[in-house]
Amino acid sequence: MTFISANLQAVRDRIRLAAAVAGRNADSIGLLAVSKTMPAERVRDAAAAGQRAFGENYVQEGVDKARQLAGLGLEWHFIGPLQSNKTRPVAETFAWVHSIDRLKLAERLSAQRPADLPPLNVCVQVNVSGEDTKSGCTLEEAPALCRAVAALPNLRLRGLMAIPAPADEMTAQREPLARLRQLFEQLNREGLSLDTLSMGMSHDLEAAVLEGATMVRIGTAIFGERKKPQGSEQ
Ligand SMILES: *Cc1c(COP(=O)(O)O)cnc(C)c1O
Repeated sequence: MTFISANLQAVRDRIRLAAAVAGRNADSIGLLAVSKTMPAERVRDAAAAGQRAFGENYVQEGVDKARQLAGLGLEWHFIGPLQSNKTRPVAETFAWVHSIDRLKLAERLSAQRPADLPPLNVCVQVNVSGEDTKSGCTLEEAPALCRAVAALPNLRLRGLMAIPAPADEMTAQREPLARLRQLFEQLNREGLSLDTLSMGMSHDLEAAVLEGATMVRIGTAIFGERKKPQGSEQ
C-alpha cells in the first residue's frame, strides 16, 4: 500500500464520518483529488487506489498530465484562476471548470469546446469571504452571471465553487460556506437546476460537508505538502 492509498482511505473516512454527523449520505459527496504540482506518477498511484477525478490549477501542467495519463479513464477538473487567452487548451482537455468568475471566460470556453465532446461542466466561483482580492465574483454578481452562463450552448452549469479565507475554528469555517449554500438554494428556487456545491479543502472538509458540499477538493491530505511554486500558489 502506497502512502497515497493510505491517505485516500483516511480522507474517505473523514468524509464518511462528517456525513454521518451531518445526517447525509456519504455517496452524495464526491472527492476531487487536487494533484497540482504533483508528478504524474503520484496521480497514477491515486488512480490505482480507485480515485477517478483530479483537479489541476495550472493550464500547461494539467494538459500535460491529462495527456500522459490518457489511458486511465480519469476525469480532469480545472480549478485554478484562468486567463482568457488560455481557455482553448482547457476547453479541449478538461471535463469540468470550477473557476468561472466572469462571463467572457464562459463565452470563450463555450465557443472553443470541441463538438465531439460533451458539454463542459462548469461552476461559478464566488468570493464568499469578501475582504480579500482572491478570484471569484461577488455574491451580488453571482445570480446574473449564473443565468448568463447557463444559457451558453456548450457549457453545463452545475453549481458554485468557493475558496474561503482560511480559518481555524469550525464556526468561522462554516460561516462563508453557509453563504455559498444559501446562494445555491436561492438559485435553485429561482429555477436553475444546480447539483454541485464545490467546497471544502484539506483543512475544512468537515465544515464543508456539514454545510452541504457535494464535491470536496482535497490536495495536501492526499498527496502531502506541496513545494511552494513561484507566486501563484493559493
Ligand atoms: C490547492 C487547492 C485545493 C486543495 O487544497 P488543500 O488544502 O491542499 O487540500 C482545493 N481547491 C483549490 C481551488 C486549490 O487551488
